[in-house]
Amino acid sequence: MDIAIKPGEIINNEQLTSIFLCAPQGGMRRSHRTNTLVLISDKTGLYKDRVEGDVFHYTGMGQVGDQTLTSQNKTLAESNHNAVDMHFFEVLKPKQYTYQGRVELAGKPYTEKQIDINGKMRNVWIFPLRLIHGDMELIQEIENLTGELNADQILDETEKERIVKTRIGQSLFKQKLLSQSKQCALCGVNDERFLIASHIKPWSISTNEERLDVNNGLLLCPNHDSLFDKGYISFDEKGSLQVGDDLNDTVLIFMNINPNIRLKMNERQKGYIYWHYHNRFKSKKILGAIWCK
Ligand SMILES: [Zn+2]
Repeated sequence: MDIAIKPGEIINNEQLTSIFLCAPQGGMRRSHRTNTLVLISDKTGLYKDRVEGDVFHYTGMGQVGDQTLTSQNKTLAESNHNAVDMHFFEVLKPKQYTYQGRVELAGKPYTEKQIDINGKMRNVWIFPLRLIHGDMELIQEIENLTGELNADQILDETEKERIVKTRIGQSLFKQKLLSQSKQCALCGVNDERFLIASHIKPWSISTNEERLDVNNGLLLCPNHDSLFDKGYISFDEKGSLQVGDDLNDTVLIFMNINPNIRLKMNERQKGYIYWHYHNRFKSKKILGAIWCK
């Protein structure tokens, strides 16, 4: 659902309850009517929540004794599968709820020791959470960071681009691509650690929209990313692999280049591939490839 509240806004409990149609008390509030789970981190309360980098370590619910993965702790633990939208608030002063935005699990929940409301040591569940950025927010972030870096006299352009790409673009772009497929588009490599979210039209000359457009991406293994990025391979309008004429047979075999490979493309991807073929591909002769407009 669309929530009529923006990150950074401070509201009171009554407003919170009426937006999410949830209960007026508790740190974790499930609403079936809006299919949401509101998570409140109360800095004035019992729980020892903490932030590390961009991950928020949120303590589960249960004020007395060991916490268990039941009730809303269960809803939160299963949030990767149950399609419940999670919204995150922080309370820095009593009765003031600062909206941080939508969140998702950033890792596996784990246990640690914390003191309960009676002062006794017990086990609690900690849930690592990460903010989910909408594309518009991301574009804003890219622009802010680019602005900051441009003010820097020391870094060169390549270095600036690398920073923006790794800080913002690459990880989220890769997540988007991984949600569609979890293997190299050209071979079978399916270990996420070795897959690269490659931009078809390079990041440096893309608009911010194109930088985040999943159609402008291919998930590739390191070898195929390198060949594609440098323009030694490309695709024709049917998605058939095109191979540069300066790659010898040994390279083709050992880099696992199979000319029979076909890339399935939708119309928007086709536009980016068209661009790549005409602007990046180093050879347009060998297989007599055609790209008609
Ligand atoms: Zn590959």
